[in-house]
Amino acid sequence: MDELLLVRYGEIFLKGLNRPFFLKTLVRNVKDAVHEFGARVWLNDGRIFISGFQDMEACASRVCRVFGIHSVCPAVEMDKGDFSEITKKAVELMNGLSGSFKVSARRSDKQYPMNSPEINGAIGHAVLEGCPQLKVDLHHPDHVLNVEIRDRAYLYVRVIPAVGGMPVGTSGKAALLLSGGIDSPVAGYMIAKRGVEISGVHFHSYPYTSDRAREKVIDLARILSEYTRGMKLYIIPFTRIQMLIHEKCPEDYTTLIMRRFMMRIAQKCAERESARALITGESIGQVASQTMEALCTTDAVADMPVFRPLIGFDKSEIIEIARKIGTYEVSSLPYEDCCTVFTPRHPVTHPRPDKVAEAEAVLDVEALVQEAVDHAEILTV
Ligand code: ATP
Ligand code: MG
Repeated sequence: MDELLLVRYGEIFLKGLNRPFFLKTLVRNVKDAVHEFGARVWLNDGRIFISGFQDMEACASRVCRVFGIHSVCPAVEMDKGDFSEITKKAVELMNGLSGSFKVSARRSDKQYPMNSPEINGAIGHAVLEGCPQLKVDLHHPDHVLNVEIRDRAYLYVRVIPAVGGMPVGTSGKAALLLSGGIDSPVAGYMIAKRGVEISGVHFHSYPYTSDRAREKVIDLARILSEYTRGMKLYIIPFTRIQMLIHEKCPEDYTTLIMRRFMMRIAQKCAERESARALITGESIGQVASQTMEALCTTDAVADMPVFRPLIGFDKSEIIEIARKIGTYEVSSLPYEDCCTVFTPRHPVTHPRPDKVAEAEAVLDVEALVQEAVDHAEILTV
């Protein structure tokens, strides 16, 4: 009899002919995630199994952050031959619990001498007898004792919900414009959740933004990378571009022009990474640069789709996710972002694309973009 983790995966079940590709990627990602625990991972009969860890709780909580996983169940594995042993173990597992329960048996071994209702009945009886504090409730039980009869028998009560989504590496790559704020890490998380590999692009304006602001973004990338199987982070020196915009362009257009530069540069980084889309943390109306017209003028310079998964979210909803995924605390540290340096007093909220283009025409856009990309510092987080 052994303790192991029985891992249930989610949406991949819906996949048809290419399910093996999704499963293979998922198993690889789980293996990577538990590598540090020295655990063994294998796929069998619709479940992923993990054993050989020292710290079960830590290992389970790590697996819960792998996209594609629906839930993780600490389980007991035993021989299925002797049903009385299974019953005994079931009573033992339920002994410490109170309230109501039901037994839910599943049998992938159709040759097994008892069917699922028979297993439910027999184990239910034994538990009632052995644990007089418990009562049966088939509709709203406090505890479900799961009994899975496969190549061996597996028993578990605890089901730890995991992140869901699709395995990272099954949906291509995208580049995330990662600021030090609350929104962009959440945006990256949401797209990675659909199986997309992520690279980060961060703009910093040293010395107007400090080294601590830079460290903060690296910390955020590190937290995100737990979900994204690591990530490359391009740190782009942005000071010169911002100074030139500030000097040469009409003040009310400076933010928008700066955002168009960000898009162009991020796109070049994306191309280097064979990424097919950009991701930002924008949501409609959050600030002047996120009105419908402003978003259109920034999109106008991108040749690839721009994903904005937070577009319809309120700040409070974004914060809730940030707390859940563990980025909120770091995002809330008070270091400045390059967007907050040189902020115009009255940014345009309804810009016209032709006016923006005209306003930035005084700059050698191509050369500035190339220069910024050439001077990127590239980290692997
Ligand atoms: P966040 O949106 O991350 O909370 P914020 O709200 O302070 O930060 P905004 O000014 O709303 O940032 O910027 C909108 C989006 O532009 C961000 O979500 C991010 O995708 C991108 N962005 C802003 N500043 C930077 C930066 N310094 N580096 C990279 N991307 C940035
Ligand atoms: Mg924002």
